[in-house]
Amino acid sequence: MSPKYNLEIVMPQESNSNRRVVLAQRPNGLPDKSTLKLETTVLPQAGPGEMLLRTSYLSLDPYMRGRMNDTKSYAEPVKLGEVMTGQVIAQVVDTNCDGFEAGDYVLAGSGWQDYAVSDGVGIRNLGKSPENPSWFLGILGMPGYTAYAGLLKIGEPKPGETVVVAAASGPVGATVGQIAKLKGCRVVGIAGGSEKCAHVVENLGFDACIDHKADNFSDQLKAACPDGVDVYFENVGGRVLYAVLPLLNAFARMPVCGVVSWYNLTGLPDGPDFGPAIMGTILRMKVKVEGFIIFDSFPASLFKDFVRDMSGWLESGQVQYKEQVVDGLEHAPAALNDLLLGNCFGKMVVKVE
Ligand code: NDP
Repeated sequence: MSPKYNLEIVMPQESNSNRRVVLAQRPNGLPDKSTLKLETTVLPQAGPGEMLLRTSYLSLDPYMRGRMNDTKSYAEPVKLGEVMTGQVIAQVVDTNCDGFEAGDYVLAGSGWQDYAVSDGVGIRNLGKSPENPSWFLGILGMPGYTAYAGLLKIGEPKPGETVVVAAASGPVGATVGQIAKLKGCRVVGIAGGSEKCAHVVENLGFDACIDHKADNFSDQLKAACPDGVDVYFENVGGRVLYAVLPLLNAFARMPVCGVVSWYNLTGLPDGPDFGPAIMGTILRMKVKVEGFIIFDSFPASLFKDFVRDMSGWLESGQVQYKEQVVDGLEHAPAALNDLLLGNCFGKMVVKVE
């Protein structure tokens, strides 16, 4: 994590207080010092039918940047003054809720704070001693399921086909590529820098990984995809999308999962208008382009398949997982910027307690 954003906030911890990070101002571009603010409030208490949760790990994810904007989207924006949204692994401190005991680990959506009160609705109980609790924020949770569902249900990869995915060392891209390998595909990753690219090939088993920061990136990508591209799992947009477009084969599939390279845009990007190239390619190559949002685009039964398959793959060592753990809630704002800019390596989680 880099200190260059000057975003660390001093967070005194008193025994009867709750530290929380709220949205103070909507950012214009990359979040800055005025975007997020620390508040210290009184420690909340669990009332009847409620429980008190103590956050262990906070997940940082690219969608958080979108929630800072007051624009029409698939979810309501965070309101000014509200606690920043986020999934957490928490421990039950005190409970009046059926089905939960003190000491249970839970997956909750209680955001950037030390403590939260919950009525138990939508909370997943992980039991007293889950093996790797933070993995439920990554490979065994939302990002892992995003990769599984988006690739298999929209990408529909077939043995021998070429699958391309960017942000290939991150939780979604790394999982997409490893599942595609298990399905018998040639898999080409795209990542920022030689260290990430080496990890993607050597540890994750992709056939190739191209550095999108290289001057001859497009040429390298073309050389790595001699039979064209059948599935482009869209994670980033921008320069990567423009390089993949001319490589798409007839009837290629493009699950549109995210466009993180554009999340901090304040207007139209500089440079040529790629609209005609994008729409022309979709038309001529009969490309299936389908956007999805993981929590409402697939039937609930698919999640059970995911848990079964992914647990098996992890146990057998067929899927590898890498985390970057940042210590302390006070570092979360800077860590989110690192995530958005690619200055992270693996699934970013913040150890809060
Ligand atoms: P990552 O942890 O992989 O972080 C994002 C990565 O994007 C960065 O590390 C960086 O990797 C890459 N990146 C950033 N800027 C650029 C750029 N200009 N050009 C190329 N790559 C860039 O993220 P996740 O795995 O959590 O998420 C991946 C994508 O999936 C995101 O777009 C996210 O919004 C989306 N998503 C969508 C969901 C849905 O329901 N549709 C659910 C979950 C995630 P590098 O340094 O390698 O370039």
